[in-house]
Parts: sequence; structure tokens; C-alpha cells
Amino acid sequence: MTASIISPELRTFVRQRAGYRCEYCQTHERISGIAGEIDHIIPVKLGGETVLENLCLACSACNGRKWAKTEGIDNETGETVALYNPRQQSWNEHFAWDADGRYLIGLTPCGRATIDVLQMNHELIVTARSIWAQAGLHPL
Ligand SMILES: [Zn+2]
Repeated sequence: MTASIISPELRTFVRQRAGYRCEYCQTHERISGIAGEIDHIIPVKLGGETVLENLCLACSACNGRKWAKTEGIDNETGETVALYNPRQQSWNEHFAWDADGRYLIGLTPCGRATIDVLQMNHELIVTARSIWAQAGLHPL
């Protein structure tokens, strides 16, 4: 048994704790129609453990783009910074929605680098957010 095996109970707990939303881009499973994935915040490859403090719920887009990355470059300062850690940091301190809820705004170097690495303002998700916002489903 490897350290990265996630039991059904752990998976359920992480999904419930996150409110069934991606802990990075906030996309809800119910409106995307796709179950979230369990992300190791510190990747297993880098010694991250399968424990509650190192797990979060991530949509398939964020999880796939994050992969084994732990840092990114802030496009405002050029600084290399750690990516957002949903267990240790507050989402509202690092991210905000623009006026119509389509684009995420990075409020900090960490927020900006995370948006860039995870492509949290990719045109496909921005288009989807427009539709969700028109239906009154986003941002929640
Ligand atoms: Zn996401």
C-alpha cells in the first residue's frame, strides 16, 4: 500500500469539508457536473502525505494543471512564490471575483501565481462562469 491511496471515507470527508467546491477556483461539482478530485497540496512525489492537512478538493482542471507543482511566478513582481495552500491560507485573502464573477483576481503574489499556474481564468472556464452567473449560480 502506498502513501497516496485515498480511502473512500477520506475522499468523502475531503469533499464534504470543501462543500463540494474546488478549493482553488471554487467551481462547484453540482454546476460543473464533474466530481472533484483529491489533490495532495504537497505532492506525493515531494514527500506529501495522504493526511487531511495535506488534502483538498480540486476540479479536474485545477488538479491537472497543478500536478506536482508547488510554486509559480507572480507576474507583477517576477517573484517565485509558493502556490496557494487551502489548508493554511484563506481564499478571500488571496483571490476575489471581478465585478461580474467571470474572472478571478489575484490579490497577492501567491494568488496571482496560483491563478497563472492553474490557468484559473482559462477561456473555457470564463465562458462557463458567464453562463452560471446568468443563471444565478455563480459566484455562490
Ligand atoms: Zn478548480
